[in-house]
Amino acid sequence: MPSEFELIGRYFERPAPTADLGVGDDAALLPVSAGTQLVVSTDMLVEGTHFLADTDPRLLGWKTVAVSVSDLAAMAARPRWATLAVSLPAADETWLAAFAAGVFDCCESFGLELVGGDTTRGPRNLCATVFGEVPRGQAVTRAAARPGDDIWVSGQPGRAGLALAHLMDGVALCDRLREECLAALHQPRPRLALGLALRGVASAMLDVSDGLLGDLRHILECSGTGAIVEAAALPLAALAASGADAALCRRCLLAGGDDYELLFAAPPRHRGAIEALSARLGLPLHRIGELTRERERLMLREADGTLAAPAAYGYDHFA
Ligand code: ADP
Ligand code: MG
Repeated sequence: MPSEFELIGRYFERPAPTADLGVGDDAALLPVSAGTQLVVSTDMLVEGTHFLADTDPRLLGWKTVAVSVSDLAAMAARPRWATLAVSLPAADETWLAAFAAGVFDCCESFGLELVGGDTTRGPRNLCATVFGEVPRGQAVTRAAARPGDDIWVSGQPGRAGLALAHLMDGVALCDRLREECLAALHQPRPRLALGLALRGVASAMLDVSDGLLGDLRHILECSGTGAIVEAAALPLAALAASGADAALCRRCLLAGGDDYELLFAAPPRHRGAIEALSARLGLPLHRIGELTRERERLMLREADGTLAAPAAYGYDHFA
């Protein structure tokens, strides 16, 4: 049986050229650039809550890092370093090698260096902390949106929710969309290039991890606004083509969670710039509604003009 330190050395110790000190001491030393703010985010994936026991470990390694990169993207911050805390039931080296490959794959894709962590025995629990940088004052928080701003969402929210409905409840999906939805669930692609490009454009931003409407409510709370979301503007067509029930597709899109798309507000004068950005990135950006003056009042407008409060918002671990 390899020791804890052999496992760390074998699977998690890699050169971290931009750190002053990486894995191997009591703590890492990081040279934060002058004129920037350090942006820090932690996310935990717990077996049984966030993933199933038989999930491919390589994809799990990717996702452990990716969900935190998504938080940096949502702050318009550039990823720099990461630490990784893992609790594992046994020193299964086949599992560890695949998991570590996924971790480093994601780190390399988004410019992160792994500089430390912790490795213990226990129920499987995976936790990455990421450190990013943003020029002082340029982070995009949840708090500076204004009534009259447009509401935008990137990509195709709802796919991860549909994948879960497929895995847990046996909901049938056509072949092409099943693959797409499973990839969205297991290997989310953080919208980093988009987040960085929205500096100075978005007035507020977050990543959709717990359901689009539930996450939109966080912007409303922090910015002191309301919102009207236009049902007709939601990117529902591609999901509905899956063959799944239309109501289920709509629920997954609005409240499914685990999407890691970016949801942001921006003044209408930026519409042209946002459309140009969408074309440049090859990433659909959907203008799905507008912020209003009615504090924290979130309404859905149907295609026929009727306004109603949403039926579901998203996922809450303790609700
Ligand atoms: P300490 O006991 O001083 O906290 P540890 O024995 O936990 O240190 O870890 C030894 C070194 O290995 C530290 O630099 C720590 O950051 C690093 N490390 C431990 N586990 C991991 C991991 N899963 N990924 C990356 N680095 C790790
Ligand atoms: Mg120590």
